[in-house]
Amino acid sequence: MGHPFAHTRQTVDTPGMKFSDITAPTPTTESLAAAYAQINAELDAGALKTAIAAWDTLRRSVETWSALVHLRFEQDTANAEAKAARDYADELNPVATSHEIALKRRLLALDRQAVAAITGNHALRLWETDVTTFEPVIQGDLEQEAKLTAKYTELLSSAKIPVAGEIVNLSGLAPFAQSLDRPTREAAMRGLWGFFAANGAAFDDIFDELVKRRHGMAQKLGFETYIELGYRRMRRVDYGATDVARYRDQIHTHVTPLVGKIMEARRKAHGWEKLYAWDEALTDPLGNPKPAGGETYLTAQAQKMFANMAPELADFFETMTQGGFLDLDNRPTKAPGGFCTSFANAGMPYIFANFNGTHHDIDVFTHEMGHAFQNFRSKNLPGFDYLWPTMESAEIHSMSLEVLAFPQIALMVGDAAADRYRRMHLIESLAFLPYGVCVDHFQHEIYANPQATPAQRHEIWKRLERKYLPWRDFGDVEYAAKGGYWQKQMHIYGSPFYYIDYTLALCCALQFWVKSRQNYAAAMRDYVVLCGRGGQAPFQALVASAGLISPFAPGALEAVVADAEAVLA
Ligand SMILES: [Zn+2]
Repeated sequence: MGHPFAHTRQTVDTPGMKFSDITAPTPTTESLAAAYAQINAELDAGALKTAIAAWDTLRRSVETWSALVHLRFEQDTANAEAKAARDYADELNPVATSHEIALKRRLLALDRQAVAAITGNHALRLWETDVTTFEPVIQGDLEQEAKLTAKYTELLSSAKIPVAGEIVNLSGLAPFAQSLDRPTREAAMRGLWGFFAANGAAFDDIFDELVKRRHGMAQKLGFETYIELGYRRMRRVDYGATDVARYRDQIHTHVTPLVGKIMEARRKAHGWEKLYAWDEALTDPLGNPKPAGGETYLTAQAQKMFANMAPELADFFETMTQGGFLDLDNRPTKAPGGFCTSFANAGMPYIFANFNGTHHDIDVFTHEMGHAFQNFRSKNLPGFDYLWPTMESAEIHSMSLEVLAFPQIALMVGDAAADRYRRMHLIESLAFLPYGVCVDHFQHEIYANPQATPAQRHEIWKRLERKYLPWRDFGDVEYAAKGGYWQKQMHIYGSPFYYIDYTLALCCALQFWVKSRQNYAAAMRDYVVLCGRGGQAPFQALVASAGLISPFAPGALEAVVADAEAVLA
């Protein structure tokens, strides 16, 4: 079959690419208006292919600039210049969106087949969704939403938590939170919730304003609540809130009791009278396996690991390390967390992390690398819209790499700890599912009741936490015990309705794990091919194309859970 996209295909080559070479001009309101006027003039003249190609180049450039600005802010949230640049980007973003939406509307009104011959059909479905999420009337709301999210990130990054004679930020707290020493774990949790209690009003206010802004935007766009708009902003075209609710019920029925049993077994094994929330992070009774070395060591080991998994992964990782596309150490003013971003005009991704000596450091090489590899493999797909898939599909690439790395994991944790690492990872995967759906259910209730008070929101969380995570006991750590836990979950503030995506992807990743145990080479091949498909299709179609069962289909969840349970038994 001939390639229908050959004519406008943008080929990006990356030989010897260096991060320091990545640049993109700073757009302005005027430059964007001029660029879009030029594209519209091409369309007026009937030059569809030229117009779409020019638009693609422009979007890659603007996206690269925006990614650089956001990355520099996250790398040093206390840097006034980086913050000013981010503020400027956040203000300009709705202007760019406004132009984009107008062009998408225009293209959707043209001969559909002619456009699809250039961009592929799925892009049109995405645009049909996108155009319902924006009208110029919400431009100011979008700006404020971005600023509130930045404010939340700054507040989180400002945490200076005293624990065991040290002062740490949120990323630095993790080793204490999963310490083998129980009083240290408890102290870490008390320190964490002390910080949230001290800033509770600020966390509540930011969220209250976010919810009301989002609800207001939904109403201005003609939706009853933010839920429908939220789904559309996530570009979900092949499932809805009813499917997700049914899926949450499945997790509650099949996984919550299993995790409850695992927690109860842990309590008994340690001889504790009660299992407290600070005991949950100690998954391995001997202490969670730690990486066998620091940044330099792990990076070298990862190169060996990828060479043993797939040559494509090894080549790509070398490009990443040689080009300086990783920022891994934890610095005091760095934003917490880890992510993968990308520079679309160069076809290169970038990994941001905060090493803290726990097994989470390994995730950089097994999780973020999955995102990066997919993005890299998709760089020459026909058009900007396919560089990343929607998030539930994107997390398949990352979470599957975590389990596909299992046979090689001794390189990262040492031979003696390899089996324990795999066991820990499986237990944490299972335990994650009820938490993930709890976060999702919470957001549905929040946006269905936008007028709820902060106190009512804490009540909602507490009720749902009791439903999905009935073992969770914060003792007398009051702020968390009263339903404040959700405030440390960044996605709830910055990326509404994203969280369920991790659990959907995990369902698929566990299927890859089952397959890899039967035929590793075949599973790895399917994985590499899936990464190359990028965002060319919606979630359930991508899942089916890799021979996986949709998490919404009957039985998909039970099967993987049963396998995991059997291995753990
Ligand atoms: Zn991810």
